[in-house]
Amino acid sequence: MRRNAGLARTGAASLLAAAMLLAACETAPVTGRKQLIVLPESQAIELGEQAYQQILSESTTIRSGPYARRVETIGRRIVAVSGQPDLPWEFTVIDDATPNAFALPGGKVGVHSGMVQLVDNDDQLAAVMAHEVAHAVARHSAERMSQQLLVEGGLQGLGMVTNNADYVRLAASAAQLGIVLPYSREQESEADRIGLMYMARAGYDPRAAVELWQIMQRAGGGAPPEFLSTHPSSGTRIERLQEWMPEALAVYRDANPGQ
Ligand SMILES: [Zn+2]
Repeated sequence: MRRNAGLARTGAASLLAAAMLLAACETAPVTGRKQLIVLPESQAIELGEQAYQQILSESTTIRSGPYARRVETIGRRIVAVSGQPDLPWEFTVIDDATPNAFALPGGKVGVHSGMVQLVDNDDQLAAVMAHEVAHAVARHSAERMSQQLLVEGGLQGLGMVTNNADYVRLAASAAQLGIVLPYSREQESEADRIGLMYMARAGYDPRAAVELWQIMQRAGGGAPPEFLSTHPSSGTRIERLQEWMPEALAVYRDANPGQ
């Protein structure tokens, strides 16, 4: 009898551990990839907000005029079809000649004026922004931070991250860095694929994503811009975009009958 009671307790503990794992498991949009994310969304949004305010306080922003209007209009069209229209989205043009863009947890998106200058049309700008929106919707930053916490905490990680002190430490380091951890190559490729579908759903021609990377490749020169440096090579990503293109074009034609 006593042995059975012990087994029951062990069983309950395993069930609890399994439930915690299940609770932490999420599924990325479009690709369906399983993700282990232990950082609560509210916490990630708070970290994103802090990092965003820090970046804005150190930058010159462009709040009106054609650049701001284009970025706002394109951003709103993309998030409307992202499945997450209610995140606290914000789109800001930053006066910086480097062709770069970024997204922070919770839907804070920054686009450098140099990126708006570089692209030929709204479809190409939509490709940049859809990629960034995809990072935010797929919670790639929270996934990176979760990986870091789990690695640091080893097998006890799941228990450790329920401890508030870890979040305080994370918040401190995120604020110190001014931005979240760099994305993995897998996440970059996933953001390309999700972004391609989002721009097509929003009625932007997905073929512009290929043009964008051709332009980035030419503009890259000796020292690649930041937007490129943590990303897979342009050649590789163009090949993969071409693989996903038939599906994206079908979605685009549904969104834009007559195209
Ligand atoms: Zn990216």
